[in-house]
Amino acid sequence: VSKKASGTTKTVKVEASQRELALLAEVKRLEDTVRAQQVMREAIYNSLSEGLIVVDAHGMIAQINSYALSALGGDEAEIVGSWFPRAIIGLDHYGLPIDPLSRAITKALTEGKVVTEHTNYKRSDGSAMPAVLSAAPIVIDGRPIGAIEVFRDLTKERQLDLAKDDFVSIASHQLRTPASGIRGILAMLQAGDFGDLNDRQAKYVRLAILSNNRQMKIIEDLLSVARADSGTMELALDYVDIAALVREVATEHDTGMREKGQQLTLEVPERMYTIADAPKIQMVIDNLLSNASKYTPEGGRVVCQLEPIGEQVEFRVCDTGVGIASEHLDSIFSKFQRVDNELAAAGDGTGLGLYLAKTIISLHNGNIVAQPNPDVGTTFSFRIPNLQESQRR
Ligand code: ADP
Repeated sequence: VSKKASGTTKTVKVEASQRELALLAEVKRLEDTVRAQQVMREAIYNSLSEGLIVVDAHGMIAQINSYALSALGGDEAEIVGSWFPRAIIGLDHYGLPIDPLSRAITKALTEGKVVTEHTNYKRSDGSAMPAVLSAAPIVIDGRPIGAIEVFRDLTKERQLDLAKDDFVSIASHQLRTPASGIRGILAMLQAGDFGDLNDRQAKYVRLAILSNNRQMKIIEDLLSVARADSGTMELALDYVDIAALVREVATEHDTGMREKGQQLTLEVPERMYTIADAPKIQMVIDNLLSNASKYTPEGGRVVCQLEPIGEQVEFRVCDTGVGIASEHLDSIFSKFQRVDNELAAAGDGTGLGLYLAKTIISLHNGNIVAQPNPDVGTTFSFRIPNLQESQRR
């Protein structure tokens, strides 16, 4: 340009600076757009009612929103740029720090997995905060560039749960006394302590006793749940013939099942000794067997099996009943969980039986599962360690 005549040069210069000005204006417009987007993104992050933390490919915290900061405490300037597992400490059941390799964010980063779990976070004041979280990798063009974790503080839910547990415990204690009073009076009526009963009176006393038995069973279940939830359910371990326990429970159910045209088969060895809390294991067997009968149509079949498997004892109840949809196979073991089916008559059942069964089996260091049968119905099975076997070694 400079080699050209001065007039021409001047014109070109003016044109160039006009273009520069336009370019500068465009850059400024883009900067404003980017800034506005950034402000908008931050406003969205900060108005989330969940905690959000973004880390880079090395697990260093790039961003943390206001919910996460106020839930966990601490200084944003210190947290951003620090290594996630060290800046935000997860605690196990015993209140000890969780190994960084076992943290959800680490799994999201190293294994590219989405991990959802419950945990406890250590707040900056040292207290523990129950939380549910989900960590996921951030992938651009097939390359992982970091991970994002979203969590929710469950403190309020836990407090509500505790209040509900207290209520269940107090209500069931209060209900037990009058219900056992009624039981005593009905027994005296039936025994003729207040004079002979005619057939009609005897029939209604029998019905009242059945209702009272159901009432007592619900109250006892609620009390057991209260004990389980407060961690005060304890095992009274003894040397037990579990085969005899199964036969005893089966005998109690035999008449009722025969009346429903159901066939009950036992495949149980003569004797099988283990160390367990007999009344509690009996409660589990009773619940599984009564469910098998309750959720099996008239004329169906129920098989109880007991066998040693390695160092464990396995008990199975297999029915030809209505079955359980696969999405409910785990949830039925939760408290108050009932699933609708054609035999689950409204109101008949509390959804506590399987929750208690799971609690009792877990206390025995065992596990319990429900599986659909290949053709029809369900098989419930639990395994508990055959302590006798392992102690022999
Ligand atoms: P409840 O029987 O009082 O409802 P449980 O905790 O014993 O409570 O069982 C929970 C749910 O699991 C029941 O509501 C029922 O839907 C389902 N269930 C349990 N056992 C069976 C079974 N053998 N076959 C089909 N469904 C079952």
